[in-house]
Amino acid sequence: MQRIAISLDQMQDKLIMLTSQQQHYLSRVLRLREGERFMAMDGKGSWWLAQLRGETAEILEAVTVDSELSVAVTLMLALPKGNGFDDVVRCCTELGVSCIVPVVSQRTLLHPSGQKLERWRRIAQEAAEQSERGMIPTILEPVAFESAIATISASGRYICEGRGNFPHLCGCLSKTLPQTIVVAIGPEGGWTDAEIEAAIATGFSAVSLGRRILRAVTAPIVTMSIIAAASES
Ligand code: SAH
Repeated sequence: MQRIAISLDQMQDKLIMLTSQQQHYLSRVLRLREGERFMAMDGKGSWWLAQLRGETAEILEAVTVDSELSVAVTLMLALPKGNGFDDVVRCCTELGVSCIVPVVSQRTLLHPSGQKLERWRRIAQEAAEQSERGMIPTILEPVAFESAIATISASGRYICEGRGNFPHLCGCLSKTLPQTIVVAIGPEGGWTDAEIEAAIATGFSAVSLGRRILRAVTAPIVTMSIIAAASES
């Protein structure tokens, strides 16, 4: 069934007031005809079965969606150069991430524009619809690494580092699975020693993702796969 995201202020009783963009998408792109059904999501966990009625849609029933992870995962990602971040946002959304915080670290090469942020939010929305998630992940404005580690709280906090002999993330999660997890992943050039030390000083544990050095765009996907497996198996 076709799916679209709506905002709660579009709902009036049993009707969804469709925007002209949504009308175009439903009837021209998805080729839905009058009276045909689709799923509407608010991006915050609620879904409805709806039926197209001209410029509106009638809500037929609320639907329960149980495709979310039991843990809320925030990824703090130093921005890779080029367009690599598009794939990271798409794949991590498919794997169940709750929030992505793009961080600017000492070795970050890219300083993103507002346009990029809009693009990542659109990718997250499309990927959430496509993978039948109940929630659309939040993509925050890029922030400096120091302020991100100081402000983003979670019961499990990890910073990934491929060098040194740190315990594997998998082992850390198998003891107890925290309800909220934040994981920081560095840029192509890696974290500086000072950044690792600062993160550890604010309560992060340094962890490994295995014995090979992963690319900055691979590491977040591996991280999400490990967390999803720990949460769902
Ligand atoms: N140029 C760096 C590697 C950067 S890889 C070096 O030579 O060390 C980009 C980021 O991915 C790293 O900062 C780290 O956060 C993460 N990463 C890559 N491989 C990893 C591994 N095996 N274990 C933990 N983190 C890893």
